[in-house]
Amino acid sequence: MSRTVTKIELNSPMEDLKGVGPKKAACFAKAGILRLSDLLWDFPRDYEDLRTRKPIADLQDGEKCLVCARVIQARMGRGFGRKRTFHVLAEDATGRLDIIFFMAGFMGKTFTVGEEYRFYGKVKLEKGRAAMFQPTFSKADDDAQTGILPVYTLTRGVTQKEMRRFSRLALELAEGQFSGENETLPASVIEKANLCGLEFALENVHYPKGRDEYAQARYRLVYEELFDLKTALILSKERFGKGRDGIAFTGRLDGEFVRRLPYELTGAQKRSLQQIRADMESPVAMNRLIQGDVGSGKTAVAQCAILKCVSSGYQAAFMAPTELLAAQHLETLTKDFGGLGVNVVLLTGSQKASERRKILAAIESGEAQIVVGTHAIISEKVKFKALGLVITDEQHRFGVNQRQLLTAKGANPDVLVMTATPIPRTLAVVLYGDLDISVIDELPPGRQPIITKRFEEENRDEAYRILKEQVAKGRQGYIVAPLIADSESIEGRSAESLFEELQAKFPDIRFALLHGAMKQAEKDAVMEAFYRGETDVLVSTVVIEVGINVPNACVMIIENAERFGLAQLHQLRGRVGRGSEQSWCLIVTGEDSDVARMRAETMCESSDGFYIAEKDLEMRGPGELFGFRQHGLPQLKLADPVRHVKVIEKAAADAQELLDSDPGLDRPENAGLKAKIDQTFATAGELIL
Ligand code: ADP
Ligand code: MG
Repeated sequence: MSRTVTKIELNSPMEDLKGVGPKKAACFAKAGILRLSDLLWDFPRDYEDLRTRKPIADLQDGEKCLVCARVIQARMGRGFGRKRTFHVLAEDATGRLDIIFFMAGFMGKTFTVGEEYRFYGKVKLEKGRAAMFQPTFSKADDDAQTGILPVYTLTRGVTQKEMRRFSRLALELAEGQFSGENETLPASVIEKANLCGLEFALENVHYPKGRDEYAQARYRLVYEELFDLKTALILSKERFGKGRDGIAFTGRLDGEFVRRLPYELTGAQKRSLQQIRADMESPVAMNRLIQGDVGSGKTAVAQCAILKCVSSGYQAAFMAPTELLAAQHLETLTKDFGGLGVNVVLLTGSQKASERRKILAAIESGEAQIVVGTHAIISEKVKFKALGLVITDEQHRFGVNQRQLLTAKGANPDVLVMTATPIPRTLAVVLYGDLDISVIDELPPGRQPIITKRFEEENRDEAYRILKEQVAKGRQGYIVAPLIADSESIEGRSAESLFEELQAKFPDIRFALLHGAMKQAEKDAVMEAFYRGETDVLVSTVVIEVGINVPNACVMIIENAERFGLAQLHQLRGRVGRGSEQSWCLIVTGEDSDVARMRAETMCESSDGFYIAEKDLEMRGPGELFGFRQHGLPQLKLADPVRHVKVIEKAAADAQELLDSDPGLDRPENAGLKAKIDQTFATAGELIL
């Protein structure tokens, strides 16, 4: 690689890259890419393997591959403006290939008839004729377009080609700068764990030279993420963790509450409650995670903890990730605690100033015994009289830092975190090392199992028939699509277009649209209307994954289910089956791949989150090279807590060993690591626990 500019550095602003002006820089900034290093750490979501091309006659249906062919025809298709299609006919020595682009009004002059191009995309074979939709393409003699190329998640205003050009340029400019103080792992760790250097890793994660190089690069980056995470965890545990003096709670109101419950606690709930009581009664501060599938009854257990705290003369804070969830909790607590003489208040960011002042005063005087709310509880203005217990729900939305801020409002309050993310226990021990763990692995009895069915695309009307029937009976439902809006480059239904389609098709059903690009206030309004039964069906993206609880909703339709991971499908299904009536989870698969079918089958066969998590691991297996997945741990870009069990164990042990020998990371060779951890984990509050 040639060095064109030398004075550029890893933390140089993006505009220092040739070709990035103020406009492009603004686009990058929106995606959080401010500096060269941000670009280098923005890893590809996929790759195109352009090393082996295939003759057209050998193409197989459904495979992704590279074809080199001469364009013999190129014309605009039907439609208007930019929505028109564009058709290309190309041939090589063995056959012809139809190529179709959508939303291609701008493509008129893209191809020169008679020239040779490379096309990379998924093949569709119909009646012996091969076609590709929306392939990526380049001139056949374009040298930059060979080998294994990265596919980046795009931000508005930057094309895939530009991303590739910039990432290549950034790598060239950064060449030689990754040793010494810019190497982000201590030399001792690199050597001991037998890792490749940072430069090699970055080069090969963006532009793999081959399978082995890619594997080495990826291993190092995955290892590093997990090593950093574990190091941060150990350090934060020391700063904040176990063994510190806490409160020995003596109150007994939880027992009264349990006696009054209209049902008997399950064995698993009793066990967890026992562990929590023991923690709370001991003078050592509790730090406990309750893990349990959606609907397993974590809230009842949390309520016991709250009452125990309150009847001991302390205040309890119950924090939820969104206003709607906070409002839901308030409603549950107010209802369930009626007659127990406890005072519950709500604190959120959107309350009026006058109301807020009153609530803050009540919290400070101690009159408010239980405070349910959002992040607003963490704000500086909130002062407790005697905060004794902090509970966070759906904990992966809160950072350790935020938890620390909240606990700092009391004198070592007890801490309880609740999560529905099914992570196998061995993993949880490593990942959540600073917490004790209670598992609620049993559902309350008498729940009707959710009927889970899989539908092929052409039978999806069947799924909608069930939905329609239930809505006619006054029930509600969800429809989840993988995309917010229709996309030129990604196959799959979008919430927006589904919403329009369904409104036209079922005029009697009141649909509402919900997706992640909406403002929080809008989202809350939509969710609230749904919650109150003012709308029948929520058409959304996965934003509803977290914690919404509408017992009247009994149908969940998941469109293009092949685009969701098993864990995600399971979480989505957990949104229904919360009442006593029969519920359905209807999985529509658009693409008929083995993985999609197996995932759907697993869903139909089991409702056990832990079983599903393990299946997920099995299915993806260690051999899967170019596969990526979302996992809900925001600060891990590459590492997957389920798939990388072995790496986690190793990285965790190595981190412990390093900290045993240098507890404060004070040795010069560990200074880089220390700085990185402070920067990544301490300030952003990003560390999820
Ligand atoms: P989670 O928070 O774990 O998703 P919830 O606490 O919201 O689950 O419980 C789901 C529903 O089950 C609630 O309506 C709750 O009242 C009910 N429930 C909880 N525990 C039991 C039990 N032991 N027997 C019967 N119903 C229960
Ligand atoms: Mg819950």
